[in-house]
Amino acid sequence: MTSPAVTSWLPVPEDSDFPLANLPYGRFVAAGGPALGVAVGEHVLDVTALAAGHLLHGVPTAAVGSLDSLLAAGPAVWSALRARLVALLSDPAARERVQPHLSPAESLTMLLPFAVADFVDFYSSLEHATNLGRLFRPNAEALLPNWRHLPVGYHGRAGTVVVSGTPIRRPSGQSLAAGTTAPTFGPSRRLDVEAEVGFVIGAPSRLGAPVPAAEAAEHVFGLVLVNDWSARDLQAWEYQPLGPFLGKSFATTISPWVLPLAALDGARVAAPPQQPEPLPYLRAPGDWGFDLTISLEVNGTVVSKPPFAGMYWTIPQQLAHATANGASLRRGDLFASGTVSGPRSDQRGSLIELTWNGTQPLTLADGSTRSFLQDGDVVTLRGRTARGPELGFGDCTGVITPARPQLPDVSADA
Ligand code: CA
Repeated sequence: MTSPAVTSWLPVPEDSDFPLANLPYGRFVAAGGPALGVAVGEHVLDVTALAAGHLLHGVPTAAVGSLDSLLAAGPAVWSALRARLVALLSDPAARERVQPHLSPAESLTMLLPFAVADFVDFYSSLEHATNLGRLFRPNAEALLPNWRHLPVGYHGRAGTVVVSGTPIRRPSGQSLAAGTTAPTFGPSRRLDVEAEVGFVIGAPSRLGAPVPAAEAAEHVFGLVLVNDWSARDLQAWEYQPLGPFLGKSFATTISPWVLPLAALDGARVAAPPQQPEPLPYLRAPGDWGFDLTISLEVNGTVVSKPPFAGMYWTIPQQLAHATANGASLRRGDLFASGTVSGPRSDQRGSLIELTWNGTQPLTLADGSTRSFLQDGDVVTLRGRTARGPELGFGDCTGVITPARPQLPDVSADA
C-alpha cells in the first residue's frame, strides 16, 4: 500500500531523486565529524544534529550517530525515525527548527554510507547469465545446469567497497593473451563495469539458523546501486575452478544513498515466473520484484538502460540461499544482485555484453569508440523507480585512473 503523497515545506525540484517519499540515508562530513544524513531535494538533513537538538521524539539519540547504529537499532526504530522525519519535513511549524540542520548537498563530502561487513555478489539475471554463457561457451548450453535451481553467487571483498566518487585505479594482474600459453603481468586491458542493485542487511541472524525466505523483510534494511568493476582479462585467466578473485576485488562502488525498503513499496512488482519450480526452501513471496531502471553512462553518453524488475532470483531467495547452510548474517552485509541485463541489446549491464566481447565497439557522443574502459573514462550509474513515486539513488560514479607504474624486474639486473 502506498501512503498518500505528502509534500514538504522545503522546495524539491520535480525531477529530483529525493522527494519526501524517498528519504534515503547516507553519511557525510559535518562540522563535528561524520554524521547520518537524509537526502531531500537538493539538500541533506543532518539527522545526528536533529537528535542532539532533541527534535527526534521517540528515537534514541544513540541510534542516529551513523547508519551503522541505525541498522543496529532494528525495524521498529527504522519506522519511527522515518515517520518523524516525514513529520518534521512536512509540518510548516517545524520549519524554523529543522532548517538550521539542512545543507546544500553540493557543498558536502559523502562517505561510505555504512561499514560493509561481508559482501556477496550474485548472478541473478537470466539474460546476463545467458549472454555470458554464449560468449564463453559458444558450443554448449548457455546456462549451466545449476542456474535455474539456485541463485549462483560468490563471496567478494567487503574492504574494497567504496563510495561513489572514489577514483578507480586500473588494476594490474596476470592474464593470458590470445594465442599464447604463458601468462604475463600488467595493467588490465579489458576493464569493465557491472550495473547492479544491492541490498543491505540491518538485523543479523544467528550462526546455524538459516533465514527463511518469508522472513527477509525482518533483516533487509534497504537498497543501493552497485558497480562491480571487473577486469575481464584477469578474470578469464584466474576464475577456474574457484570463481572470481582479483579480477573483481580491487574495487566495488556503491551509491552514497541507501533507500530504505519502506520507500520502495510503490515500486514493487511480481517477480518473473520460475521454471522449474525451485526447491521448497527457495519458494518465496512473489512481490519482491522492484521496478527500477538503471542507466549506465560512459563519459556522459547513456549506453544502456537495464531493467531491474526482470531479475530471475529475488532478494528473499538470495537471502534464504546464502544462509541455507547455517551461515549467519551480519549487520552491514551487502548482497549485490549480479549484473542487471534485460532482453534487449540496449539493456545490457556490462561492456562485455554491450560490445559482444569487444567485437562491436560502442560509439560515444564525442565520436570515440569503446570496447572496454580507457584511463580517464567516467562511468556513472543512476537508478530510478519506474512505478510509484519517482525516486532515485543519486549518482554512483567513478573515474578510471592509470595503473600503478610496474615494479622494476630486479631479476634482470642479477
Ligand atoms: Ca557482479
